[in-house]
This record gives sequence, structure tokens and C-alpha cells, in this order.
Amino acid sequence: MPTYSAPVEDMMFLFEKLRDNKNYNELEKYKEVSSELVKDILEEAAKINQNLILPLAKIGDENPAVLENGVVRTPPGYKEAYQKYIEDGWTSLSCDPKYGGQGMPKTVSAFFDEMLSSASLSFKLYSELSIGAYNCINHHASDEIKNTYLPKIVEGKWSGTMCLTEPVCGTDLGLLKTKAEKQSDGTYKITGQKIFITSGDQDLTENIIHLVIARATDSPAGTKGISLFLVPKFKVNEDGTVGQRNGISTGSIESKMGIKGSATCVLNFDQATGFMIGKKDKGLNAMFTMMNLERIVVGIQGLGISEIAYQNSLAYAKERKQGKTNNTKSTNGADFIIEHADIRRSLLNMKSIIEGERALCFWLSQQTEVSLNHPDEKIRQEASDFVSLMTPVVKSLFTDLGMEITNDAMQIHGGYGYTKDQGIEQLFRDNRITPIYEGTNSVQAADLVFRKLSNKNGSIINKFLDLIKSETDIDHEKIKPFTKDFAHYLSILTKFSEWINEKTKSDKDDVSAAANDYLKTLGFVSVAYAWIKVLDISFKNYDENKNFYDDKINTAKFYFDKVLPRAEQHYKSAISGSSNIMNFKFN
Ligand SMILES: Cc1cc2nc3c(=O)[nH]c(=O)nc-3n(C[C@H](O)[C@H](O)[C@H](O)COP(=O)(O)OP(=O)(O)OC[C@H]3O[C@@H](n4cnc5c(N)ncnc54)[C@H](O)[C@@H]3O)c2cc1C
Repeated sequence: MPTYSAPVEDMMFLFEKLRDNKNYNELEKYKEVSSELVKDILEEAAKINQNLILPLAKIGDENPAVLENGVVRTPPGYKEAYQKYIEDGWTSLSCDPKYGGQGMPKTVSAFFDEMLSSASLSFKLYSELSIGAYNCINHHASDEIKNTYLPKIVEGKWSGTMCLTEPVCGTDLGLLKTKAEKQSDGTYKITGQKIFITSGDQDLTENIIHLVIARATDSPAGTKGISLFLVPKFKVNEDGTVGQRNGISTGSIESKMGIKGSATCVLNFDQATGFMIGKKDKGLNAMFTMMNLERIVVGIQGLGISEIAYQNSLAYAKERKQGKTNNTKSTNGADFIIEHADIRRSLLNMKSIIEGERALCFWLSQQTEVSLNHPDEKIRQEASDFVSLMTPVVKSLFTDLGMEITNDAMQIHGGYGYTKDQGIEQLFRDNRITPIYEGTNSVQAADLVFRKLSNKNGSIINKFLDLIKSETDIDHEKIKPFTKDFAHYLSILTKFSEWINEKTKSDKDDVSAAANDYLKTLGFVSVAYAWIKVLDISFKNYDENKNFYDDKINTAKFYFDKVLPRAEQHYKSAISGSSNIMNFKFN
């Protein structure tokens, strides 16, 4: 079984040293959140993830969730762990105190999300969509619905799901068939089938609150006729207690490659009572509140799984002896594989990506908070634009690199990585869903180039480029080699953005074919931006903690020398265009 030690030191470094951010500093809400408090939270979080949740990963893989007599049973130990998990208040970390939450900033809940993803993604998924449902209800529902449902969801006694996918409707939600018939009392009867629903049923909570998209009988076809409904598994009595069973049944659960402990359900809605959330036919707007935040969390899943893959690869490389290096000091037998240049390269590739991603994610969490809570509407809007630009990047880049890192982790473990002994192959299998769900990574890339870049006449990307240019213009001798390098890749990103802008007007296939490359270029440059912030702090505070900052500076050096050049390769590949791709005759 893989071991895991939560990276609390790195997280605290980000929280304390990268916290200073003009707009974020102006938020009243989090002034009371001290370093001491956050350290206490992270240390407790580390304990529950390392001790209680980590062992559930293997248990869930070997004893998948099952459907028995129409009821889903989670793997052994999940119930007891979930009980402890909610008793300790982990579901409520970033929720509003008005509904029983702890009101912590997203910077802190993102750290917790990472730890939980490292420990067990399957277990995590039972509460993850609850937070998504909380956000969606909190933003779009009436006070009556909020007061009825949110306290129980925050407490973790009720959970949430997101029901979009149907047999013929995955990426293209306009094709959905689930229908909603309005009743005289204002409620709706929901009928249809949803598939692939994460935690669609389970035996952990008293009630499950499904957020379902459906088409009202008098609504138009396509995406313009989709509304959002809250459909509880058990109806809720007036006094807030759990009442009669609603018309929802679990048809089956999927047998999957990974995340086997997580129940992925087919749900049949048969005249189930539902309540409309938000405006009629505007259901996708409301659902996007849930999906956008959720997409960032899926990116964090990729980061968390990468971290545990790295930690175990490093430990294995330090204990496995094979072959001799060019400068061997060994007199009898072999060197530890960590002495081999190629293994070192692979480990540093992982480490430099993971730490850069974590720093970028910290910045993005701050921007999310600014977008929700800053008193100035203009600043809120600008932050919201940055979050919407970076959401597909974090979702796709982190999960794709999660595949690369878990793949490399298997490679470092050799045959023991491929066999089940070390649990490394499970990390690869568990991570494999992350580039697929919450909108596939290719669809994220298309969203980035066709919508996010052209939004507001392209001003969002231009503002982002201006921001990272100004923030990396640092007058400090030691950082100059990095900022010079950064300026080169920033100019490539700028050229690439202009190329996309031009091609959008003339050849959309060129843009579609370049979408994934563009996302990667923007992603690698954004991670480099986060590294420059880390470097700035590292040089300024060097004498405080030489070992820690040396490690940061040398890891950043690897990123700039060996990882960031990929941004240019993606650019070169993309601008060769799409004519061959589109004219090629597949036999
Ligand atoms: C384990 C698991 C859990 C899930 N959990 C949930 C859940 O909780 N709730 C929920 O509603 N759904 C859930 N899903 C569904 C998931 O979100 C979808 O599988 C995903 O969105 C892709 O849809 P699809 O499978 O129908 O693929 P399709 O949409 O059929 O896509 C097939 C391929 O075509 C590509 N493609 C599609 N459209 C385009 C386009 N316009 N341009 C370029 N390429 C395109 C895709 O990138 C993909 O490679 C889950 C799925 C799994 C496997």
C-alpha cells in the first residue's frame, strides 16, 4: 500500500508567504484566519487523511461498492470513516457559518481537497459533490430551500449529486431527454434516466439531494430549454425530518477501471417530485456554478494523486538498488536507483510540476475568494474572469499531468509498479477518470479557445497576460535568469493567443486542432508564473531557511530548464495547422 505524508510544510509556506495579494488583502472576511489556526487545521487534516482515510483506498479497490436489493453498499470501513469525517466537521470547512459551516477560505479547503485526493479519491467522491450542491443551492435557490437543505448538507448528514449525463447525452447536454412536468402546487414531476452518477446512491447519509437537469414539457429543444431541479431521495417533511421515499431508484452501478470504491450509478427517475432551482430554462447557468468550482476541484484531484505517486516513487528510488552509475562509489554490487540521472530527471519532473501546480492553485483560490467577496464589483468581476479563464486549464493540465506522473511512478517502480504489490498501478487507474469527467479535457480546451478567449473581445486573456507580465517584472539580480526566460515564453503565449484570435475568424478547424496545445502552453506558462512568485519569496527570505529555499530554487530551475520548454513545442505543433488532419482519409 502506498504511504502518504501530507505536505503541510509546503502548504503553510504558501499560506504564509504567498498570501500577500492586493485584492485578497482587502477582504474583511478572512482577516481573523491566522497562520496558527490554519496550521492546526492542516495538522488535524493530515492525521485523518494519513491514518483513517488512506487505508480505505486499497480496501475500496479490492471491495468495490455493490448494489444489493436495490441499495448501494459502500466498501467495508467507509461508513465508520464517513461518520468520523462528518463528526470532525470536514464537510463544512469552507461553508457559510450561517448554515453551520466553518467559514474557512478556499485556500484552506483546497489544501484539504488535495490531501483527501491523495489519501483516497473514491472516499472523497462521497462528499465532494455535496460541496458542489451546497454552492449551487446557496447561489441559486430560494431562502426556503436553502434553510431546509443547506444545514444538513453542511453537516454531512445529507449528501449531494450532480445529475447531467444520460445514455445519449454526455458532452452535448442539449440532447437530454429527462422531462419535468409542472404540478398545480408549483413542484415538478421528473421522469427519465441519468447514468454515471457519482454517489447516486450510498449507505452513508440519511438523504441524498440530487441536482438534476431536465426539460420542462413546454420548453424549447436544445440547451435553451434546460432547467435545474432539486430532487431529494427522500421527501422532506415540513419540520425538516426525512419523509417518504421519492420516485428514484438505482438501476445498476458501473464496474470500472479505477475509483472502484465510489458508486457510479444509473438512476431512474419515475415521476419524482422536484423543485426548480433558479429560473426556468436557465438551468445550465445554475449548474455551471457547481461545475466550474467542481472542475477546479477535479484539477486538485490530479494534483493530490500526483503528490502521493511522487512521494512513493522517491521512497522507492532511495531503497531499490540496480546497476551502477557513471560515477559509482559502490564497491560491491549496485547503486540506489535514485543515483541514476534518468530516475532523478523523472522525480524532479514530478516534484517541479506538483509544487508549481500547488502554488498556482493557491493563487486561483485567492482569486475565487476575491470574485465572491470583494466589495468592489469591478474587482470581483475581474477576478471572476481570471477564474473562468484558468478553470479549464487547472482541470485539464493538472489531470493530464497526473496521468504522466502516475505513469512515471509505475515506471520508477519497474515490475513492482505494474503488479499490485505496491499499489502504484491503482493510482494510475484511479486518476484515469479525472481527464474524462466534469467535461473531458478536450472539451475544456475547446471551451478555452472558443469561449474564454473571445469573451469580452479577448480582453480577459489580455488582462491576464498584462497581470503576469507586471508581476514577474522583478528587479532582483538572482531572479533575472528566470524572469528573462519567462519573458521569452510569455511572448510565445502572446503570439499563440493572437494566432488563435486570427484563426477563429478564418479557420475554426485550425483552432479546434490547436485547442489542446494552447491549453498546455497557457498552463505551463501559468505554472511558471506561480514559480516566479515562489522564487521571489525564496530569494528574499533565503537566510531564514536555507535548506527549504535552496530546494525551491533548484526545483524551479528544473522546471524552467526542462518543463517550461514544452510550452514552445506545443506552440510549434499547433501553428502547423489542420489541413492534413482534416483531409486525411481514414480507411
Ligand atoms: C466514473 C464516472 C463518474 C461520473 N460522474 C458523473 C456525475 O456525477 N454526474 C454526471 O452527470 N456525469 C458523470 N459522469 C459522466 C461524465 O461527465 C461524462 O462521461 C463525460 O462528460 C463525457 O461524456 P460521454 O462519456 O458521453 O462522452 P462523449 O460526450 O460521447 O465524448 C466522447 C469523445 O468525444 C469527444 N467530444 C465530444 N464532443 C466533442 C466536441 N464538441 N469537440 C471535440 N471533441 C468532442 C470527447 O472529448 C470524448 O473524447 C461520470 C462518468 C464516469 C465514467
